[in-house]
Amino acid sequence: MRELIFERSTPGIENVFLPPCLKAPEQAAVDRKFISDGSPELPEVGELDIIRHYMNLSKLNFSVDTNFYPLGSCTMKYNPKINEEIAGWKEFSHLHPYLPEEHVQGMLEIIWELQESLKDISGLQGVSLTPAAGAHGELAGNFIIAKYFRERGEKRHIMLIPDSAHGTNPASAVMAGFTPVEVASDKKGDIDIEALKGKLSPEVAGIMMTQPNTLGIFDSNFRKIADLVHAAGGLVYMDGANMNAMMCHVKPGEIGVDVMHFNLHKTFSTPHGMGGPGSGPVAVGKKLVPYLPVPVAEKDSTGIFRLEYGLKNTIGQIKEGYGNIGVMLRALVYILALGRDGLKEAADIAVLNANYLKARLVKHFHLQYDGITKHEFVLDNEFQKGAGVKTLDIAKRLLDYGYHAPTVYFPLIVHEAIMIEPTETESKKALDDFADTMIRIAEEAKSDPGILKNAPVKTPIRRPDEVKAAKNPVLKWTKK
Ligand SMILES: *Cc1c(COP(=O)(O)O)cnc(C)c1O
Repeated sequence: MRELIFERSTPGIENVFLPPCLKAPEQAAVDRKFISDGSPELPEVGELDIIRHYMNLSKLNFSVDTNFYPLGSCTMKYNPKINEEIAGWKEFSHLHPYLPEEHVQGMLEIIWELQESLKDISGLQGVSLTPAAGAHGELAGNFIIAKYFRERGEKRHIMLIPDSAHGTNPASAVMAGFTPVEVASDKKGDIDIEALKGKLSPEVAGIMMTQPNTLGIFDSNFRKIADLVHAAGGLVYMDGANMNAMMCHVKPGEIGVDVMHFNLHKTFSTPHGMGGPGSGPVAVGKKLVPYLPVPVAEKDSTGIFRLEYGLKNTIGQIKEGYGNIGVMLRALVYILALGRDGLKEAADIAVLNANYLKARLVKHFHLQYDGITKHEFVLDNEFQKGAGVKTLDIAKRLLDYGYHAPTVYFPLIVHEAIMIEPTETESKKALDDFADTMIRIAEEAKSDPGILKNAPVKTPIRRPDEVKAAKNPVLKWTKK
């Protein structure tokens, strides 16, 4: 373990030189009993030591800007620096969120223009940018569906969720008051149509489809599924966090989707991970527009922009302000920089890259669902398990080679899953280097599986208890 700065302290070493104290009045403003009489026990170290300490800490960060980051389901693409620069302009970052509308026409135009772009990309008629993340967009979408049926006097409490859906889907449905019911996949990774038919009833409010699903597969029966759900009186929700694979190729609104969310921080480039920041706009078809969370930006016939808070059936306000403006700015810059053709090409290359990597790896790692994948694919340890090698060992060994591990043990329908999403921003050379490393690990699993089981050996810490590290982080130094 690295030495902590407190442990390097040498009494008497100073690096802070404070100006002399102004003469303060005798009477202390704070009651003496609240003032400690001991020293604050700050570490005593020289300036260079402290610089090195923080520089070395900063180098422990892993990011897309430093190495390949093929975290399936998370779309860890490179985020162009122009987005960062523009989002940081003080004309944006210094705006107070509650300035009068006539003072922030430019900002409102940006919000409106992003709403319009997302309407175009989704093929849907209304967008609210306010949800703060993908899961928050799902929750808003579920609230919309719940309120829609409540107003119609229909008691529909079931939300159908395929077993290949993202894990947040059932959680969002439950939070909105629905009972999630699982629908099985068939051998190809599509929804099992017969299983779906067996679950449809007048109690079903809808279905939540992650598309492409967590296997990276776009359901070849999507239209048929939407028609079946609609015929049973339900609505179709599409989890659009994977739009990176299909933007400007398919408009969800044209294939039967009633409600969807985007993940701006995945598809439209914002650095993310470790909990934020995010933005999960919700998009809806015509009959659901009055239900959107408020505010939404509107433009009147004279070109003046305003915020509408009074939509007829709105589910209300789900976040203070208007959503995460910084993420929206990055998304709009990305959309305008690429244009429709550029976005379409980005999707093409994301799919090409995933299929290229898959083709290089299938001889060395088992692939359970071998349909045409889109932006990601899911391998497992079937070929390595004979040697006692688990997926976790493969992932840990990748760390020694300088890679972020792919997503592991998800989706749950693949035992010992390892889920790889390269994104469109990686070069062929980067993909080849990664494939070579994976193949080398497959060889190691045969020749010396102990290497994998002991990995990682090159990281600052080896195998922490990941749940405990996330739930009970020790963020404060205490003197031993
Ligand atoms: C990431 C993701 C989500 C959740 O998005 P958050 O912004 O992390 O809340 C939902 N569905 C899918 C398919 C995702 O990949």
